[in-house]
Amino acid sequence: MRVIASDGPAGAGKSTIARALAARLGLEYLDTGALYRAVTLLRLQNENSELGNFVDGLLSSAHSLTWVGDPAQPQMILKGENVNALIRSQEVTERVSEIASHPLVRGYLLDIQRKIINKAVQGIVVEGRDIGTTVWPDAELKIFLTAD
Ligand code: C5P
Repeated sequence: MRVIASDGPAGAGKSTIARALAARLGLEYLDTGALYRAVTLLRLQNENSELGNFVDGLLSSAHSLTWVGDPAQPQMILKGENVNALIRSQEVTERVSEIASHPLVRGYLLDIQRKIINKAVQGIVVEGRDIGTTVWPDAELKIFLTAD
């Protein structure tokens, strides 16, 4: 399976390039930051439970989080609702690094990311900092994009 990992500093245009590359090569596209943002959005709605219980809840509701990897129109779906705009809110942006640092959350999303990649029959361009090292170390190509 063709897997292309894409990483680089914020603002370098890596999402634009990753999507264009996927579209050009007929591959799917995965924005792993969107997954972390979606879990953060859910967490903001469930702040009272203990984090372990929260992640257990995610595990037992397998269909609550769905990624649509069409590079022309990628979509993050939560419980059937498109949350593309909500996951870019300031509230989510402010909390995502903290939520993403938790090993239980990373473990949960590691599994989800690998499932999405395995299902991409034609191959996939995956954007995120730990793709080429942790999520899919055997990626055919690993891009680190910088630009001023
Ligand atoms: O790329 P984006 O800014 O949407 O990512 C949001 C946050 O999610 C990052 O700042 C980081 O804290 C977390 N993240 C991560 N690992 C990834 C992708 C995103 O920890 N592979």
